[in-house]
Amino acid sequence: MGTRGREIVGLAVETVIDTLNKAFADEWLAYYQYWIGAKVVKGPTKDAVMAELTLHSADELRHAGLVANRIVQLGGTPLTDPAQWLSSSNCGYAAPNDSYERLILEQNIAGEQCAISTYMRVLELTRGKDEVTFALVQQILSDEVEHEEDLQNLLEDLDLMLSRR
Ligand code: FE
Ligand code: FE
Ligand code: MG
Repeated sequence: MGTRGREIVGLAVETVIDTLNKAFADEWLAYYQYWIGAKVVKGPTKDAVMAELTLHSADELRHAGLVANRIVQLGGTPLTDPAQWLSSSNCGYAAPNDSYERLILEQNIAGEQCAISTYMRVLELTRGKDEVTFALVQQILSDEVEHEEDLQNLLEDLDLMLSRR
């Protein structure tokens, strides 16, 4: 990376790189969890759920790209082997082994809540010390907050529909 760009990071650059690589693993796992969830989901509002999961999967893949670019900019290497994703992640992976939409929504809500907590910790780490990573993570965090809300709204729609029958 640029030498001045590296100098302005006020904490160990390796610490930032390691932290971002864990988030990078989370993003790939979130991407796949949404992507496969959209393929298998079943239930009375599955069309709406499928559409939202598909949009979210694209967002998570975009986040993975943004995080990877920052890792490279800092002079690091994004995880090169998918075998590292589970062991490096903060939030893990919840396989949609039950296709019922409520369970898939709950799994993904838990994932978003973990992502929100994780990115809040990255903001704490970088606040006032790595402004570029800080600004990037703020952007990503606002997407994760929106994702959680979208999924909770879908769950609410499902509950309303089922209670009015
Ligand atoms: Fe994300
Ligand atoms: Fe998300
Ligand atoms: Mg959405």
